[in-house]
Amino acid sequence: MSVPEEFLYLSPPHMGGREQAYVQQAFDQNWITTAGANVTGFEQELATYLGVPAMAALASGTAALHLGLLALGAGPGDEVFCSSFTFVASTNPIRYVGATPVLIDSEPITWNLCPKALEAALQDRQKKGQLPKALMLVHLYGMPSRMQEIQELTQHYGVPILEDAAEALGSRYHNRFVGTFGKVGVFSFNGNKIITTSGGGALVSDDVALVEQARWLAMQAKDDLPYYHHTTMGYNYRLSNISAGIGRGQLEVLEERVQQRRTVFENYLQLLQDVEELEWHQEPDGFYSNRWLSCFTLKKNSGVNPEKLRLHLLAANIESRPLWQPMHRQPLYSSCDYFGDQVSDDLFARGLCLPSGSSLSFSDQERVAFILRKAFRG
Ligand SMILES: *Cc1c(COP(=O)(O)O)cnc(C)c1O
Repeated sequence: MSVPEEFLYLSPPHMGGREQAYVQQAFDQNWITTAGANVTGFEQELATYLGVPAMAALASGTAALHLGLLALGAGPGDEVFCSSFTFVASTNPIRYVGATPVLIDSEPITWNLCPKALEAALQDRQKKGQLPKALMLVHLYGMPSRMQEIQELTQHYGVPILEDAAEALGSRYHNRFVGTFGKVGVFSFNGNKIITTSGGGALVSDDVALVEQARWLAMQAKDDLPYYHHTTMGYNYRLSNISAGIGRGQLEVLEERVQQRRTVFENYLQLLQDVEELEWHQEPDGFYSNRWLSCFTLKKNSGVNPEKLRLHLLAANIESRPLWQPMHRQPLYSSCDYFGDQVSDDLFARGLCLPSGSSLSFSDQERVAFILRKAFRG
């Protein structure tokens, strides 16, 4: 028996090298808490990168979505429209605030929110006299959503957008960063995202007061008095100064990480161009994805299903994952109203994500391609 080959993870952390120096600064200054030079530095540096006036550094992307919904005033009795094709961390915060999710399906090219399904949902709610408090718009796998069509609709109906750009830091739509289109934008620095703080999130907005309010809510909403006085219920959602140090180091290599992930995708396309059973996630003109994960769907009648492929890769020490199971298929959310044509059901049934980390070497990718091809050609 030969030595088993190294396990290839889907999306492992990839340090740039300067993270520990920032963490060391926090130790040197003894700011081992949720405040300090790294927290403020990280907030300023990411805001500058994105071209927004302010960012609030938070404990997770989920916490950022929760505070984003509160900032938009969503609460009991409200509906919030949400992309159905997403991770459960998008929809859960809608329930945290006591609002009701209404799920909107995808369109088949970007895999993100379908403008036609959105229009049908908006028309329906207009007729019923209850427009949603917000649209939670998710940019999956780093692919920007169809912003022009979507914004035309939300502006017409007066519905603010909360962008869940957890997977899409560094992605652009016509040269503008996703996460900066909505009233509020959210990013995640979970360990598997394009850059990580080991765990963390960001909330951004053009409205500085909104960001300040989110920061205040994230620190237990203490009123501005010398003693502990509270009129509002807050949360403990601030990012630690240690984690923010990791984030500052990661920000220095963010553009490089975007390039590397895009190269990983291009390499797969090249290496597997002869396997015509695979349909790769497309990037329309004017769209620029960070290619967080390299994904494809299997053509209908390819004779191979994603689960068979996943197990085949796993047997060769290669991790892969099915695409997200849409929220309207989750026991937790299947009772929610839903608009669309089951495009995301089809994506879930046929899709797979391959190892996509920015540290993945070309020879690792050759190994993935070799094993993958064997599943089709024997
Ligand atoms: C990762 C992720 C989140 C949640 O971010 P955390 O930092 O893990 O809380 C939310 N939405 C989507 C689409 C994600 O992929």
